[in-house]
Amino acid sequence: MRAIWGLAAIVLSAGTAVAADSVKLDVDLTDAPRHIIRSKLTFPAHAGPMTLRYPEWLPGEHGPTGPIKNIAGVFIKANGKDIGWARDPKDMYAFRVDVPAGATEIEASLDLLDPAQVEGFSSGASTTAKLAILSWNQVVLYPDGVKGNAIDYEATLTLPAGWTYGTALPVATPRASGIAFKRVSLTTLVDSPVLAGEYMRTVVLDDRPGKKAVIDMAADARADLAVPPELEKAYARLVKEADALFGCRHYGEYHFLLTLSDHVPHFGLEHHESSDDRVYERSYLDPDRTRMMQNLLPHEYVHSWNGKFRRPADLLPDELGKPIDSTLLWVYEGMTQYLGWVLATRSGVRPLQEGLDRLAYAAAQLDTRGGRSWRNLEDTATAAQLLYESSDAWEAWRRGTDFYDEGLLIWLEADVTIRRLTGNKRSLDDFCKRFHGGGTGLPEVKTYTFDDVVSELNAIAPYDWAKFLNDRVKRRDHGAPMGGIEGGGWQLTYTDTPTSLIKSDEEVTDNLDLRYSLGFRLDKNGAIIDVQPESKAWAAGISPGMKLVAVNGRRFTKGVLRDAVKGTKPARATIKLLIEHDDYFREVSLDVDGGERYPTLTRKAGGDDVIGRILAPQAKKP
Ligand SMILES: [Zn+2]
Repeated sequence: MRAIWGLAAIVLSAGTAVAADSVKLDVDLTDAPRHIIRSKLTFPAHAGPMTLRYPEWLPGEHGPTGPIKNIAGVFIKANGKDIGWARDPKDMYAFRVDVPAGATEIEASLDLLDPAQVEGFSSGASTTAKLAILSWNQVVLYPDGVKGNAIDYEATLTLPAGWTYGTALPVATPRASGIAFKRVSLTTLVDSPVLAGEYMRTVVLDDRPGKKAVIDMAADARADLAVPPELEKAYARLVKEADALFGCRHYGEYHFLLTLSDHVPHFGLEHHESSDDRVYERSYLDPDRTRMMQNLLPHEYVHSWNGKFRRPADLLPDELGKPIDSTLLWVYEGMTQYLGWVLATRSGVRPLQEGLDRLAYAAAQLDTRGGRSWRNLEDTATAAQLLYESSDAWEAWRRGTDFYDEGLLIWLEADVTIRRLTGNKRSLDDFCKRFHGGGTGLPEVKTYTFDDVVSELNAIAPYDWAKFLNDRVKRRDHGAPMGGIEGGGWQLTYTDTPTSLIKSDEEVTDNLDLRYSLGFRLDKNGAIIDVQPESKAWAAGISPGMKLVAVNGRRFTKGVLRDAVKGTKPARATIKLLIEHDDYFREVSLDVDGGERYPTLTRKAGGDDVIGRILAPQAKKP
């Protein structure tokens, strides 16, 4: 996969030929604590017009999220002189330059102004007073029209005094003033972020030669680096359980780059040999916060196989400036959500009961998505680039990135179906060994189409898998696909006691989740976050953005509202809500019975506990 840019001089789109050499890239994190990352690039060049591009479409973010608006301080020089530049008026990511006669290289410098907003993904806040996550795509330019595998970069990195770092990018030489990395393709560079900081710690999960897997942690405070010993052991078992599931690895070294900070957005972004994993500070000190991150590392780790090694052909752009077709994200993300859920429980990163609670949470949420009547699951994948950016308001009617959790339900049902068809002789584990196996053990990409998925499923258990999958991803009606839960020996029910997952969610977010009783979620100040279609609240005209001021004549607090809902059991009662609506006030009466309702799973009478078997550890004990 390494390459070859310039073995014979190639002709760029603007007609500029370039010489055989790599791009030199020097990145300086010295000012990262004040939220500026400085970058200098040296390109081989010849006299004439040349266009340099800033990466727009990012692998893993499935959208045009390159933070071009945060770029400043762009200077382009030849022979030490500023030669200026002009932006393409129809393409905000393209910088045109005229290389003067006699110049054999040009030097471009730019500053990334790291935003303060704690939202979005990697283009959200990525620097704090004590740490920085460097996404190379945010600090590079590349010659227009050149594919990521067809151009090499040699990068150096300078850190603030006293900082250390973690990355999967191979190091050439440690230098007194910083780090020099090995020459790699632009694809590998962008796929290999760096986490650096003052407070860092490495947790070794597998130290065998050629099998190294570690967690590189950075936090805003040293105390946050204390992972409970039992959880460290569970993370090491996660690596073993993934070996048992897939039967091979597709990396030389794997680095979880785990950031604990309240000053960055919280998400995971997969890479082939690492993942950019960002969680709340105190995530290992506060059990509610620990519970909220149980899914993250298992999910991102699975992506090294499902998403990176195996990738939908339409999700592999030729270059970072070209759009992708994300229609198969219900495989890329949906199967990853399922396998991450499985491995989290098999490894003990998440207790079995909490694995069941997580499944109930996903199923109930999707079961009440009114938006399914107009939009099928497939469209949530196709339109992912819109939905990642959408707010929580109206999510139940608009739908969100549902291909994650609905993918979990669909792939659970596929697993249960394979087990049923083969008398428990085969499972989705066998599919994974076949579909995600092979390769050289190092990062490479093997693309697939919908038909490939169908034929690989048929090789495990003959069935009309095209119909099975199409029936689920293309249907527009009511209710979530429950076949996996019910075929797995369980059913979705409701109880008046919230699961530990819902309690932790309410603690950490400070919201109140009454979607399955009154029909809405709201924050601690009474602001309505979203309303479920077909709920009592929806019928009464309550909508996101309104504010709940009082409940049954008393000022709103989470406790006052919860007590009012509790009061509708055993006898039906009317709850009076005083709502503030764009500076007007009105009273809404909801006729409610049954008290609080929270989703949970209960065993079906008789039958096999297939889900219990799926979630049981598979790796051999050492
Ligand atoms: Zn993912």
